[in-house]
Amino acid sequence: MAPTITQVQTSTTLPAASTVVVIGGGIVGLMAALTLAERGIPVTVLEKGRLAGEQSSRNLGWVRKMGRSAPDVPLALAADRLWATMPERVGADVGYRSAGIMYVARTDAEMEAHEQWLASVRDLSLDSRLLGVREIDDLAPGSTTPWVGAIHTPSDGRAEPTLAAGAIARAAMAKGAIIIENCAVRTLSMAAGRVAGVVTERGEIRCEQVLLAAGLWSRRFLGNLGVSLLTLPLVASVLRTAPMRGPTDIAVGASDFSFRKRYDGGYTITQRGALFAPLTLDHLLLGLHYLPTLRAQWRNLRLSFGRDFLSDISLGRRWSATSRSPFEKIRTIDPPVNDGLIAEAIDNLSEAWPIFKAATIEQTWAGMIDVTPDSLPVISPVEAVPGLTLASGFSGHGFGTSPAAGQLAADILSGTKPLIEPSPYRLDRF
Ligand SMILES: Cc1cc2nc3c(=O)[nH]c(=O)nc-3n(C[C@H](O)[C@H](O)[C@H](O)COP(=O)(O)OP(=O)(O)OC[C@H]3O[C@@H](n4cnc5c(N)ncnc54)[C@H](O)[C@@H]3O)c2cc1C
Repeated sequence: MAPTITQVQTSTTLPAASTVVVIGGGIVGLMAALTLAERGIPVTVLEKGRLAGEQSSRNLGWVRKMGRSAPDVPLALAADRLWATMPERVGADVGYRSAGIMYVARTDAEMEAHEQWLASVRDLSLDSRLLGVREIDDLAPGSTTPWVGAIHTPSDGRAEPTLAAGAIARAAMAKGAIIIENCAVRTLSMAAGRVAGVVTERGEIRCEQVLLAAGLWSRRFLGNLGVSLLTLPLVASVLRTAPMRGPTDIAVGASDFSFRKRYDGGYTITQRGALFAPLTLDHLLLGLHYLPTLRAQWRNLRLSFGRDFLSDISLGRRWSATSRSPFEKIRTIDPPVNDGLIAEAIDNLSEAWPIFKAATIEQTWAGMIDVTPDSLPVISPVEAVPGLTLASGFSGHGFGTSPAAGQLAADILSGTKPLIEPSPYRLDRF
């Protein structure tokens, strides 16, 4: 069963018009809407299912700079600043704690990779540093694994996905945003060569600008408009324990597990070294673009071919404004949990930190992520469709940067000076 966010009383009445329509009520769309509402710009968020029902409630909650490619770090630094002031801004604790993140290394090769990353961000003034074995034990006592070393970023941390999305949505509405659930956007309506509105399953809304923040559905939505966005779906399986005494408040990642403390006293755990790839037509069509990543990561992929291929095809790739769209056929994508990966996650972790042998698993779930070839999101105008801005493809690490990503998207579509230099995120880089 997937986690659910704190309840939000959303609207049911579709407005006839709104300056901006945001397609997708995940954390990125909600943050953009909050930013726009604070600027006094009328904004309506349309969500096909329930708010944050897909990636934004299912993620691990890590907020990190560590491991990001250098061009992606300014967005993460901006996000840190925004997370720090979030409680004041939204009037609620969203579970943000900069308690630190540590990646432990079992082998010299893993340690070398950490050193190389550190060298790649040398000019960015991060507080990341390499640790020796004794320091690992000081920060996270009780491990029985002979680690070679670690890398630690004290200013990284976590927030609670199930608290954050609800609080941000409530704050956006309090500041004037309209949010509607169970309302899929089928397509755009155009006039004089630019966006003039959106066509939903419940009628049309006129607008000047649209932000497409539809997560892994953005590729399909754009495909129907003749625009190509390169993303492929991958599935991660996650578990949460009952409240327990654990080794540390720091989030810890190894090659085959990760854990982080939760606000409820339990831990969120995953098999960090394995992602499930239910093969679809897109994997065949786009595979070549991913070859460099595949060469480095293929050991981490568990492939399956079968039912998903057929169900993906049956969803359809072209539809009209008057026909039922794929977004009405799947309100909330809820991939099956991979029990094998759940077992590996808890076994590998318990072997490294035996205190986890006493853990009680309270919940398991899976989530589907939208991965681009370079693992950077697209936050960009869509040049082929004037009036359309895109914020998608967060590649499994968009929760942490969402406050900044949402703001950057709002900046781009409203012509405001961008929060950071947006060029790494342009759509036309592919
Ligand atoms: C298991 C897992 C672990 C992760 N761990 C981390 C982590 O620790 N740290 C981190 O930073 N990131 C993590 N991520 C990634 C992070 O969750 C995502 O990058 C982020 O939530 C993306 O937010 P989003 O708003 O772009 O997408 P989503 O949350 O997927 O939201 C998109 C929304 O758009 C809606 N939608 C789609 N099409 C339409 C339409 N036509 N009309 C109306 N609505 C539509 C969908 O229903 C959906 O609710 C993880 C993801 C998963 C799945």
